[in-house]
Amino acid sequence: MREIILCKFGEIALKGLNKSNFESVLVKNVRRRLKRLGEFDLHRAQSTLYVSPLDSNIDMDEVMDELMHVFGIVKLCKALEVEKSMESVLTDTMDYLSFALADARTFKVEAKRADKQFPCKSPEICAQLGAAILERFPGLSVDVKSPDITVTVEIRETNAFINAHKINGAGGLPIGTSGRGMLLISGGIDSPVAGYMMAKRGVHIQAVHFEAPPYTSERARLKVERLAEEIALYCGDIAFHCVPFTDIQVAIRDNCPEELFTIIMRRLMLEIAQRICEREKCSCLITGESLGQVASQTMNAVVCTDEACRMPVFRPCIGLDKAEIVETARKIGTFDTSVLPYEDCCTVFTPKHPKTRPTVEEVREGQARFDFEPMIKEALEKTSFKIIRCGENNVDL
Ligand code: ATP
Ligand code: MG
Repeated sequence: MREIILCKFGEIALKGLNKSNFESVLVKNVRRRLKRLGEFDLHRAQSTLYVSPLDSNIDMDEVMDELMHVFGIVKLCKALEVEKSMESVLTDTMDYLSFALADARTFKVEAKRADKQFPCKSPEICAQLGAAILERFPGLSVDVKSPDITVTVEIRETNAFINAHKINGAGGLPIGTSGRGMLLISGGIDSPVAGYMMAKRGVHIQAVHFEAPPYTSERARLKVERLAEEIALYCGDIAFHCVPFTDIQVAIRDNCPEELFTIIMRRLMLEIAQRICEREKCSCLITGESLGQVASQTMNAVVCTDEACRMPVFRPCIGLDKAEIVETARKIGTFDTSVLPYEDCCTVFTPKHPKTRPTVEEVREGQARFDFEPMIKEALEKTSFKIIRCGENNVDL
């Protein structure tokens, strides 16, 4: 008898011939995530992953907490693995769930019999276990519609499993099943949310940040690193590229039309990000833009920005209101960091009257007034790199 965790696969259960591929990526991701917590046996059957600790000292609450952030799992619960006999099911359920049953007013029992050789059929298991629970907890009553507690018994090939508290997992698709993408991360609210959303669809995220010292401070960069660390809870370790952008911004200010500063800066950011993508074999860019949010995110501005791109730019926040983005930021735990008051390079040299309806021709012409190529090369050479891991940052901000 031991406690294990059952993880139900979500959408990947529907993936037909690719299913096994998706499942093995998920198992690999889970294995990587649990490594620091101890040794586990991972076994999959019928769209469920059975996570069994191989050491009795493992803290199963910590394991649950880790698994709750793994994309590809829709539901998870702790379960007791017991001997496959009706007698064990009856006595062990009572022991394992005694506190939960004592706290509840209503309950129901569900049974799943994968092993058709098991002598009791599902309705019989429910009837026997239901009667035993009522006898032991006379204050309880059965409610099949919305019970306080649903006791589930699963009879599998080798063992039986008892569980009662399924919680929602992170959903989505396993990281790595949708390729690699480069997130342009600022210190704002939107870009960490954008990274989370794409990672949820299975994209393995790297991140690039542009800084403009001395106009932006060391702390501003540390704040962004902390945001990357916070989303790493979901996205896994993040390769973080930090590009020195001051010279390029100064050159834009000194050579390009003022009302086009921001758009030209954006185009150059995307140009540099693309070159890092090519080097790192990422096939798309990801930004936190939301249509119409600011002057540089109008339809015309987005069209002018995209014109500088050779690869797709995914903007998962494009159709979200700020309030919706904030809601997700709070849910994933990045909001409090995002609102810390540090400067971003985008707010250095902002034009007084940015053009909200620029045309591609005028932006191209404005950008062509200066040869940025040598500076782009230099910025790439000076780009720093580090791996950001969840739980490693303890900087005071
Ligand atoms: P956010 O909350 O993500 O900062 P925002 O509303 O402040 O978004 P902008 O500052 O216009 O919007 O930036 C739009 C997008 O451009 C950001 O979501 C991010 O993807 C990218 N971006 C902006 N500044 C930087 C930066 N310094 N480094 C990397 N990417 C950036
Ligand atoms: Mg910003």
